[in-house]
Amino acid sequence: MEIEYVDLIKQWRNIYKFEVKEKPSQLQRTELTPQNYFQVRRPFFAKLFPEDPEYVRTFRMISYGMMEYSPSLRSLILRGAGLKLAKRLVESGEVKSLDDLPRVFLNQKIGLLDILEESFNRIKLNIYECMSCYNAVTIGRTLCDFEAGLIQGIIEELVGRNITREIYCQGLGYSFCGFEVVFE
Ligand SMILES: [Zn+2]
Repeated sequence: MEIEYVDLIKQWRNIYKFEVKEKPSQLQRTELTPQNYFQVRRPFFAKLFPEDPEYVRTFRMISYGMMEYSPSLRSLILRGAGLKLAKRLVESGEVKSLDDLPRVFLNQKIGLLDILEESFNRIKLNIYECMSCYNAVTIGRTLCDFEAGLIQGIIEELVGRNITREIYCQGLGYSFCGFEVVFE
C-alpha cells in the first residue's frame, strides 16, 4: 500500500509535468450537468473504499445545488467553509505541520495531496483524484474552492497570511488540481 501510493504520486507528477508543458488539448467548454458531474469513480479511493462513488456523489450533489443557486456564492461559501475547518483542524491539534496535510486529505477522502515546492515566499501543491473536480468536464473555470480554502487556512494558521489560488483544475481541462500559495 505504501509503495503503491508512492508510485501513484510519481505517475501523477509525470502527468502534471506533461500537461503543464503541453497545456490541455480539449479546451472545448461544456456545461456541468448532474449526468456528467455526479457519477465518478476515483481509482485510488474506490479501490480502498468501495463506497467512494456514493460519497463523492453526495458531496457533488450539494456543491452542484449551490452552483445552480449562484456560482459566485458557492465559491465564497465553500472557500469560507474550508478556511473555518482549517482553523479547527489546527486548533484541535489534528494538523501540526504541513507534513500532516497529505494524511488529512487522504483520511477525509478529499484527494491525494502532493506538496511540490516549499520556499520562504511560495508553496506549490497539487491534488489528484480531487473530490470536487476529478473527471469533471472542462467548464473554463476552477471548481475546488473548498480545497483552496482548506489549504489557505491551514497554511495561514501554521505559517502566515497568504493568497491561495487554484491554477490548474479539471474544470480548466487539466487532469489534476494545482494550487499556488503566495505569502503576503
Ligand atoms: Zn480542481
